[in-house]
Amino acid sequence: MKRTKTSTEILSDLIGFDTTSHKSNLDLMHYIQDYLDGFGIKSRLIKSEDGEKANLHAVIGPADVPGIILSGHSDVVPVDGQDWNSDPFTLTEKNEMLFGRGTCDMKGFIACALAKVPEMAAAPLVRPIHFGFSYDEEVGCTGVESLIDFLRDEIEVKPAMCIVGEPTSMRPINAHKGGHHLNCRVTGHECHSSLAPTGVNALEYAANIVSFVTKIKKRIAEQGPFNSDFVPPYTTINTGIFNSGTAMNIVPNLAEFEFEIRPIPEENPQHIIDEIREYAFKILEPQMKAIDPKTGFEFTEPVKIPAFHCGEDSEIVQVALNITGENTAHKVSFATEAGLFQNIDIPTVVCGPGSIEQAHKPDEFIKTEQMIKCDNFLGSLIGLYSQDLT
Ligand SMILES: [Zn+2]
Repeated sequence: MKRTKTSTEILSDLIGFDTTSHKSNLDLMHYIQDYLDGFGIKSRLIKSEDGEKANLHAVIGPADVPGIILSGHSDVVPVDGQDWNSDPFTLTEKNEMLFGRGTCDMKGFIACALAKVPEMAAAPLVRPIHFGFSYDEEVGCTGVESLIDFLRDEIEVKPAMCIVGEPTSMRPINAHKGGHHLNCRVTGHECHSSLAPTGVNALEYAANIVSFVTKIKKRIAEQGPFNSDFVPPYTTINTGIFNSGTAMNIVPNLAEFEFEIRPIPEENPQHIIDEIREYAFKILEPQMKAIDPKTGFEFTEPVKIPAFHCGEDSEIVQVALNITGENTAHKVSFATEAGLFQNIDIPTVVCGPGSIEQAHKPDEFIKTEQMIKCDNFLGSLIGLYSQDLT
């Protein structure tokens, strides 16, 4: 049996692995596997297609009954171009603060969960505690999908609830907006601008779509759906990138733009996407193809993070409220993997150590007080899931 470590000691180990999203996270996952092995706990890696990255799943306690899954992402955002006062991949303690990339977002939570493993392994658990650690959260929550499929289709008994340990300063969160990114590529037909009617101006057709998207965005702001828990209380849409054109006297043959939709839980973003696609394919594209059949639109959706809402009266929200002593669950404006668990009927709450204020920034840190709060939170959870032997 391996010696136990504190959550801060484990955090120090985890920070030492540079798991920036575009890099492999396998060294970190093997570290966790070795650590779990030391306490006799088997774990499974669910690898990415190229085999460079993996999700990790483990279960402690009786696997044949529904339990709880503690979820965290192993990847971190890049440090490139950021001015750090210490090495981002060496945990540095100063004034009760622990500095390092990923300390609050969100290796702090994973470290606290791992530090409790000896206690979990020794406890008379009547319901199991699962670990679900993912990759590629910071690039659109894409890595966790295979873990979600595994939980839905392959596991003996699916967890009955989930805690996503993103930094919320240990306050339970039961709703957030989603995030969908769409790329649109418009292929036109190039020609000299003096002969413009014989070409297909990709820039102008792209601009047509952007203006259509702007109309939808205004309609939603005026007509809803609304949810007063959010600021602003409706789904927002923003076109963020637009590229086209090389010279005044050329009809552009290519335009690309990107926009995002941040839906409230009451909105079905697919309806918005369908409306935009219908306008592109049914109204605009026939006009383009009449001049050149090779022209047209292509949409891709590299990021689709569902909005998240879990009823305040659900067991997991109540458990989190009871343990933290908070009166009510909160809403946040950042998106997490929570909606993906919720989509396979695993009621979820977001609650983890550290503040989102410190996430993604140079000199990212977590207060030691937050680590202790999370240690205690998980200790209470183990108690709740154990047989009362007194
Ligand atoms: Zn995060």
